[in-house]
This record gives sequence, C-alpha cells and structure tokens, in this order.
Amino acid sequence: MTLPKISFFSHTENSFAEMVSQRLGRGLQHAGRIYSQLMRNNAIDRNDPLFKNSQRLIDEIEEQIDFTLPTLSSQREEGETGKFLLCTHDKLFIESVRIPMQAGGTLCVSSQVGCRLGCTFCETGRMGLLRNLTPAEIVAQVYIAKHHLGFNMRNIVFMGMGEPFDNYDSVMQAVRILTDPRGLAFGKRHLTISTSGLAEGIVRFTEETGETPNLAVSITAPDDELRNRLMPINRKHNLKELYDVMLAYNQKTGREILVAYVLLQNVNDTRDHAERLATYLIGLSVKINVIPYNQQTRDRFSAPDSEVIDAFVERLRARGYCTMRRGTKGQQIMAACGQLGNLELKRMHSAINQSSNLSTDILQ
Ligand code: SF4
Repeated sequence: MTLPKISFFSHTENSFAEMVSQRLGRGLQHAGRIYSQLMRNNAIDRNDPLFKNSQRLIDEIEEQIDFTLPTLSSQREEGETGKFLLCTHDKLFIESVRIPMQAGGTLCVSSQVGCRLGCTFCETGRMGLLRNLTPAEIVAQVYIAKHHLGFNMRNIVFMGMGEPFDNYDSVMQAVRILTDPRGLAFGKRHLTISTSGLAEGIVRFTEETGETPNLAVSITAPDDELRNRLMPINRKHNLKELYDVMLAYNQKTGREILVAYVLLQNVNDTRDHAERLATYLIGLSVKINVIPYNQQTRDRFSAPDSEVIDAFVERLRARGYCTMRRGTKGQQIMAACGQLGNLELKRMHSAINQSSNLSTDILQ
C-alpha cells in the first residue's frame, strides 16, 4: 500500500526523522541531516560524507515526502516594504509582508485565508474566513521569503491575514518548526503572535510550557460600547474578561504584552479615549503600539491628523506607558496593517461560500 505523502514543511527535525525511519525502516540520522540542510540552505548536499553510501536512501526520502511549496504568485514593492502572494494547492492566496529593518527584517505572516472576526477597520475581516492555513503553509511563507526572495529576517509577526488563536494548533506547530534549532532556528522572542482578543486562546497560550513567542493584543477601544462596534469579538469576550486573561498572562509568565490600538479619526482618537485606555490598562504590564489607520479599498474610516496622533501618544506616555507610534509602511500596495485581503480573494470567497456551509461568524 502506498502511504499518502506528508509535507516536509509540517515537521520539526525530530518528527521528520522519526516519520522517515517509520516509513522506510531506516534513515533516522540521515533524515535529520537532510532536514537541517534543506531548512537552512534550501538544498541537500549529496556530497556530505554522511550520505556517501546512502544516495538511494535520499532518493527514497525524496519519493516518500512532499517537498512542494505554494507557488509565488506575485510581488509588489513600496520603497523597501514588499508584499508577496502565494497560491496554495487549492488555488487560494496567502499574503505576507516583508518589512526590512536595520537590525534584520520583519516578516508578517498569515495564519488563515480571510478571517471570521469581522473587525470593521480591517480589510481581511470583510472577507470572512475561507479556511485555516496548515502549519506547512505558515512555515512556507517564511521559507520562501528566506530562500526564494533572499529576505534577511530576524523577526516574524503573526499579524497578517487571520486570527492566529482561531487556528491555534496549526500556529503553535508552525512556531515549533520555525524555532527548531536544527532547522530555521528563529528565537522564540523574535516571534510575536497578535490576537484581537480571543480570550480562550490567551488562556491556552498562558498555559503553554516552555518559552513562548511574544504576545500582542489589539484593544482599539477603551469601552465595551465602542469595542462592540469596532471588534465584534468583544460581544463574546468583553474588556473585563480580556483584562483578566491578560493579567493572568502577565502574572504567570512575567512577560509584557504589546497592546495594539488602531487610531481612527473621530472614532477613538480623543484625549478622553487615551485617558480611558490608560485607566483600563492600570495593573497590567504592557507596551502600547498606536497604529494610525491605513487607507483601504472601501473606506469608512480615515487616519487622524498627525497632531492628533502625537497628542494621543503623548497622553499615554504622560500616564507612564511606554508607547510607540507605528509608521505606515506599505500603504500604497495595501500591505500595511489591516489592509491585507484583496478583491480577487473576496470574489473567490463569495463563490465558495455560496456552495458551502462554512461558518463565517465566530459569535454563532
Ligand atoms: S484585525 Fe485581525 S482579527 Fe480582526 S478581522 Fe482583521 S485579521 Fe481578523
């Protein structure tokens, strides 16, 4: 019986070597070396002395395992920021964003095709959810950026399309693969998982053993009434519940949370909003990232003027919070925060939705 092929990119070195030795009855050590070489160099060195008498074994491994990656469909650049689109085996598109920085770049990866959380200021949220990405598809974004696009990255942020904690198991398996010291070897502190406030995901994340990536939480409104309107997830997990799980995270891990606040003109950008946000966060260990709204295809919102943004940031600083003002890299190519998810994807989504029972509402 022929076993179905399993994706190379869904494995850590250990699990890959075990899987190969179970399938072939040998090759544990060789598979480990192959894993490291491929993940690090995008090639198997057949002249490696370990493989001297094992060329046939390498052939068998290549036959048994699926090494295919999503195809690189397109790339767009704005200055140094670049967005690339990968096409999956079932003809869906995954968007990822490269952001070069002086001390090594940041790659913003997607965890789902679309998203069912429906934040009103987010392009992806208007698509609904098409499907979760597999661990292999998440890892592929990093692998392709590194080996096919030559992107030198130090940080990976789960801030692309999708709510990472709505695809928890795949995201955490991708984290294990990305941080495997015998593979791509990213430091866990160089990974950040960003959630819109899925409380049960934060609870699970808090209970993880061992070192975990950094945690970012999007707050974006200092009261339930406004947050219910901007981020429907708040109707399920309100600000009080979110506060409690964030506090538990601080207390259990001793680590800070990066709080994201998308600043929308005449919606959540006044001095009073800043004061109430500061009050809400009392007792938590946080850094705040203020993100001026990025323009989208069908705009209901706009970004505040620069002075308003500065005043908002200064108010939070005056209240004692370390507060950063996010730049607006990649706006023209729709690669900035909240802009992922293009019209082509939306058309495809509505076509598939008409012929499926896919749930697009997490509140159901
Ligand atoms: S902001 Fe994040 S959680 Fe909200 S709709 Fe967009 S992708 Fe989903």
